[in-house]
Amino acid sequence: EGRWSLAGSTALVTGGSKGIGHAIVEELAMLGARVHTCSRNAAELEECRRRWEDKNLRVTVSVCDVSVRAEREKLMDTLRQTLGGKLDILVNNAGQSMVKAATECTGEDYALVMATNIESCFHLAQLAHPLLLRSAGGGASSVVHISSIAGFVGFPGLAVYSMTKGAMNQLTRSLAAEWAGDGIRVNCVAPGGINTDIAKDMITRDPEIVKSQATQLPMQRLGETEEVASVVAFLCMPAASYITGQVICVDGGRTIA
Ligand code: NDP
Repeated sequence: EGRWSLAGSTALVTGGSKGIGHAIVEELAMLGARVHTCSRNAAELEECRRRWEDKNLRVTVSVCDVSVRAEREKLMDTLRQTLGGKLDILVNNAGQSMVKAATECTGEDYALVMATNIESCFHLAQLAHPLLLRSAGGGASSVVHISSIAGFVGFPGLAVYSMTKGAMNQLTRSLAAEWAGDGIRVNCVAPGGINTDIAKDMITRDPEIVKSQATQLPMQRLGETEEVASVVAFLCMPAASYITGQVICVDGGRTIA
């Protein structure tokens, strides 16, 4: 029944044109949610929108670079119009990877990764709060962050990226504590290596990483985007109504090896 459904709810998923975000959009929409998503590429977004329409999934799209404050504000304005001022689910998924020795990172690199991965999450959560609050009456409103196991484990070449992911894990706990009284649950999914452009990019830049990582990966394979999306969907459901402030690794056992 309703405990395992998202019927009637509305959701914003950032970075839904590809990879994990794309799978999250489809999962939430298939479970009955009305979803809005964004990315920086208008043509790709429109292509996605058409495919979703063909599948009878209710998804709207708009261009937004989440690293830019004014664009985040514009996204929320768009959302107020398209979703009628009601938001039950915010998924902060859009993220930027950067594989670079710590000694090589420039000020610009640092600022870009921080703005894209963590400042965007904090600010979008702030902006969404009034909308989530209006939905929280039904006890169904929730935020999910997509961090990474890099927020727990030290990986060479990923210092700044990993800092943002560690910060997302803590933002999850802080907001969960602050907003529990508002009826808003805040959780986080921390994926291990998932079969997307980000993973392919890391593998091409550093083929050795695959060999060294495989020995520490109990399940011996990359994860698929759907395997992350299902956990995100569960966290948003009434079935997860007593779960808040948690960071759940979806990593084939990498962090317990
Ligand atoms: P992809 O590169 O496959 O997809 C990223 C999505 O986010 C695209 O839709 C992209 O569209 C969008 N995006 C990127 N930057 C911005 C931006 N500044 N503003 C708006 N949209 C943006 O990445 P993944 O699906 O692999 O990654 C999704 C999340 O999962 C990230 O936060 C990543 O850190 C995390 N993650 C991924 C892992 C993996 O192995 N793949 C492992 C652990 C965590 P466009 O570029 O057109 O804007």
